[in-house]
Amino acid sequence: MGLEEYKRKRDFTKTPEPSGSLRARKRGELFFCVQKHLASHLHYDLRLEHDGVLLSWAVPKGPSLDTSVKRLAMKVEDHPIEYGEFEGVIPEGYGAGVVMLWDRGTWTPETPDVDAALKKGDLKFTLNGYKLKGSWVLVRTGGRYPGARGGGDRAWLLIKHRDDWSGDLDITEFAPKSVKSGGDFEDILADDTPAIWASNRPSKGGETGAMLARIIDRAAKLRAERSAAPSRKKAPSSTGLPRKRRAAAPTAGKRAPSSRRKT
Ligand code: MN
Repeated sequence: MGLEEYKRKRDFTKTPEPSGSLRARKRGELFFCVQKHLASHLHYDLRLEHDGVLLSWAVPKGPSLDTSVKRLAMKVEDHPIEYGEFEGVIPEGYGAGVVMLWDRGTWTPETPDVDAALKKGDLKFTLNGYKLKGSWVLVRTGGRYPGARGGGDRAWLLIKHRDDWSGDLDITEFAPKSVKSGGDFEDILADDTPAIWASNRPSKGGETGAMLARIIDRAAKLRAERSAAPSRKKAPSSTGLPRKRRAAAPTAGKRAPSSRRKT
């Protein structure tokens, strides 16, 4: 598919997101990530490296470890590989909001021909992330799913297969924070420029608007606390996972993180 749609939707003079480029196909492990994205609505973007880009699905309710739960996953435009390390604030335009790197690691297709699986609309794969592990499937619905209005062939379902990593633990509640910074949305926002947000909120009203208002409020308080006690540095990364599970995490950080552009 390439990155034309990704680039067309964004003004890189106004967003800190990477402009990106196709990455040559390489041997070895394939990257995956999930970015928790508070935009017009909260959702989780699942991204799988394939053919030099990140195949992407927006999952409104986030992944579920419960094998009986089918989560709507809307196929969206391919993203550049560099995007997989992105965390920060998109101040305006497409996807305006806060992006948190919620999980990352490697993925393995359970079928030799990924393109054929995508065409067929049935992609089975294994994840090895900090939070998400084991066998999963993405199945295209053909738009026959409530909530996928106008989705056409973009509507897929994300389902966990039964294995050691399935269960009734609510993973989005259990481990809500960033695997990159250890922070929550308000920490990411506090590291950025909340002034923009007070004047130019991307989502007004409704549940998301209320959530954003709370996050902006907490970010402002964090900023105030930090400036009051400048010598106190935040404790390093906590993913919100018990130490035992964190110890089993993969080494996903082989790729150098992309430099963050300041706008
Ligand atoms: Mn998104």
